[in-house]
Amino acid sequence: MLKKVVIANRGEIALRIMRACHALGIQTVAVHSTVDRNLKHVAMADESVCIGPAPSAESYLNIPAIIAAAEVTDADGIHPGYGFLSENATFAERVEASGFVFIGPTAEVIRMMGDKVEAIRAMKEAGVPCVPGSGGPLTEDEDECLRMGREIGYPVIIKAAGGGGGRGMRVVREEGALISAIATTQAEAKAAFGNGMVYMEKFLENPRHVEIQVLADGQGNAIHLGERDCSMQRRHQKVVEEAPAPGLSEQQRAEIGKVCVDACLRIGYRGAGTFEFLYENGRFYFIEMNTRIQVEHPVTEMVTGIDLVREQLLIAGGQKLTIKQQDVVLRGHAIECRINAEDPETFTPCPGLIKHFHAAGGPGVRVDSHIYEGYKVPPNYDSMIGKLIVHGATRAQAIARMRVALAEMIVDGIKTNIPLQQRIMADIGFQQGGTNIHYLEKRLAERREKSFGLG
Ligand code: ADP
Repeated sequence: MLKKVVIANRGEIALRIMRACHALGIQTVAVHSTVDRNLKHVAMADESVCIGPAPSAESYLNIPAIIAAAEVTDADGIHPGYGFLSENATFAERVEASGFVFIGPTAEVIRMMGDKVEAIRAMKEAGVPCVPGSGGPLTEDEDECLRMGREIGYPVIIKAAGGGGGRGMRVVREEGALISAIATTQAEAKAAFGNGMVYMEKFLENPRHVEIQVLADGQGNAIHLGERDCSMQRRHQKVVEEAPAPGLSEQQRAEIGKVCVDACLRIGYRGAGTFEFLYENGRFYFIEMNTRIQVEHPVTEMVTGIDLVREQLLIAGGQKLTIKQQDVVLRGHAIECRINAEDPETFTPCPGLIKHFHAAGGPGVRVDSHIYEGYKVPPNYDSMIGKLIVHGATRAQAIARMRVALAEMIVDGIKTNIPLQQRIMADIGFQQGGTNIHYLEKRLAERREKSFGLG
């Protein structure tokens, strides 16, 4: 069992990790930037170390400073959370080389999954269904690219192997536009990610985003915890997540879950992880794997009753997975609304002082947030200030509870997206369930054009 963990993150996830550590009797070290001295978990952790100024590059991405903090506090593990260094293979390597436990998979697996071409190759080999595509990087040979486009069938999408955050992608609807689109994406990818490698996939027109949560101990045991539907997105960013996915059958869940579990065992996966799929006409198409805890993990916790961060800590401490697949039972329905400090109409970030805060409560309501009255949201980081998660016996009950909880929640002094979340919960399409990844953007465009839609 780990004894003392450095939490290499900030905000709500740092608080979440701290709570899981303390519940296991593990001591915590908060590392923070100068503007984050007043974070809730910094006050509550056993120890805290300032690792640099506000810009992430000099603090939360500062590998030597984080490792030094682990050294001076005599910690034995480092939890990276999500974002920042969580999927940085070099960080995982340095942490382990310095004699600490990296709470996540091996550097080798992180590196493989960080290269999408490699990840798809490995997943194909492991029997995971992928989007029909080039199966490897595109070459200079134009005739070969054109032949591939014809074989896959238009529309296709050109994607950067090193891409992330929804960037480095271009849809091509006809053969005439293919060659120039490849060249542009290559140039952009080289500039943005330092890697010009691109590949081609069939562009799915109306998919949903459905992802499978897994836990593996790296000692021959792996399970899946069902799926989450994260189709409610804006600019490829998730806005609402839920579990289970509306309309998915028990059999489909068991089948795709088993495929993911087998893949974990095959690649020697360790820790918590997520297989992301596009889901269209009843079929799953793998797009990428996230080798870390995700923002939306609470909806899985609410329907399974399993504390995912606790499991991450136990696995990292060398324990074998004690939960068996048959112990994973999904109960009811959970929804998460991300609460962002942003203008609900223009989506411009809105940092500043929180003058008044009142959290929601009641049966099945969970608030994962680091904010408090008098807290100043700094402009330097992501605008997410918390997550509101509800559980209900049915999806309809969960929506009803979410509507009450959103109405109860008060964040004064800054603008938040709570009004947008209220409109989504009241939307007939959302209430029916199973909308695709373009739905929210479409409704927002309708609202802009006709002062109609979503409200
Ligand atoms: P990133 O790592 O940048 O998030 P992903 O590969 O996960 O990139 O893709 C991000 C989003 O782009 C997906 O959620 C989906 O909305 C869209 N997308 C990616 N590949 C395809 C595809 N083959 N067809 C349709 N949409 C796609």
